[in-house]
Amino acid sequence: MKFRNLLFLLIAIPVLAPADTEALKIEAIEAIDNQSGQLIELSDQVWAFAETALKEYQSSALLADYAEAQGFEVTRGVAGLPTAFTARYGSGHPVIGIMGEYDALPGISQQAEPFKAALEEGAAGHGCGHNLFGAASLGAAVAIKDLIASGELQGTVIFFGTPAEESVGGKVYMIREGLFDDTDIAIAWHPSNEIRADTASSQAIAEIRIAFKGRAAHAAYDPWNGRSALDAVELTTFAINQMREHVKPSVRMHYTITGGGDVPNVIPENASLWLWLRDSTHDGVDELIERARKIVEGAAIATETTGELRVTGGSYEMLSNLAGARLIQGNMERLEPMQFDEAEVEFAHRIQEATGKQQVGMKTTPEPLNEHPGEPEGGSTDVGDVSWVVPTLHFSVTTAPAETPWHAWPVVAAGGMSIGHKGMLYAAKTMATTLVDLYQDEEMRQAIHAEWLEDKAGREYRSFLAEGPPPIPER
Ligand SMILES: [Zn+2]
Repeated sequence: MKFRNLLFLLIAIPVLAPADTEALKIEAIEAIDNQSGQLIELSDQVWAFAETALKEYQSSALLADYAEAQGFEVTRGVAGLPTAFTARYGSGHPVIGIMGEYDALPGISQQAEPFKAALEEGAAGHGCGHNLFGAASLGAAVAIKDLIASGELQGTVIFFGTPAEESVGGKVYMIREGLFDDTDIAIAWHPSNEIRADTASSQAIAEIRIAFKGRAAHAAYDPWNGRSALDAVELTTFAINQMREHVKPSVRMHYTITGGGDVPNVIPENASLWLWLRDSTHDGVDELIERARKIVEGAAIATETTGELRVTGGSYEMLSNLAGARLIQGNMERLEPMQFDEAEVEFAHRIQEATGKQQVGMKTTPEPLNEHPGEPEGGSTDVGDVSWVVPTLHFSVTTAPAETPWHAWPVVAAGGMSIGHKGMLYAAKTMATTLVDLYQDEEMRQAIHAEWLEDKAGREYRSFLAEGPPPIPER
């Protein structure tokens, strides 16, 4: 009997978290519940502002004001980005950074209705759910701030208000400015149609501008005097499309022609191309850039024009963190599954019907942890860059019906009503409870850091960013 009791203790003690950590998690969850009305209000306002990359003036001010009112030390307009900010609370280490995004996507304005109907024809909409992203992350930051303020947690929390994820990648500029330098661990989440502690990477991407210069002439009277920059652009796209057969399946290449001349009877003197190159690693992308350079040189020789290729920006692939993902998984599994009422399920069914998907409603419980992810799905994020300068944890939460298309009207619709709100609160609770563990458990922090160092394997982060200030559009 005695022996069995001892055995019980030996087995039980290591898996039970200290009681105070559990109590702090309950407090953190209560802090989210107490803020839920305000968080929903923040999210809905950002949803209605629907401001696109680098124009998120009202959205960033709203979130920064909220942080300031909660007692954070707020610095606005950081890294040369008028819509970026940091909100800091506490002192000393550990310093944990929480990322929040709030930019919308052009052209997908949508009402919070289960059928396609623009709120304002041609306007922007939150088709990636970043209205929920920013509000949930800020809610988690406030929950942690409360616990630091009461002396129950020790350290510093920084909320990073990171604009323009959908274009230039605000985080890349914030890294360049050194804003993540004293952060020990960073965390982010993303709206999704499932609940998942993320272990997969994302694609690395380079953003490239190509410009050719030729000689203008009358296209009928003296075409022999002209050299067409548009011909060079056409040769370039032709060669890129030929190259498609001879790249790895992990590669994605896409472009738009941004300048192709003005009128057919003037041989175009200037023509230009906007090209994005992606692969599962930044080394792979570097190789593609060198191949693109040869193509541009070749096109210029063939057309007797001059060509220029500039890498203007890009992002690294994500260094995912399995130790961190296991921690998140545990915290997701201790939360109540998400619950949707009949009206919400009906809303989801109508969206699924409208988009030709099975009417299966929402995914409400965490997916099993994927310990061995393969190649990343298509898509890139500037959270990838952060993961190269700070160990970064990442998860996804249901904010839209299962299987529905992303960057499209259903995501805008669900993100502006209670389906999205419930996902946002679930995300805030997952984040806050995971953060409690991170502050409390130094060994866990060390394990996350050790895994990160091993993954980096001594490789240094060199951003794809060109020199100079960010390209802020006119107001
Ligand atoms: Zn997004």
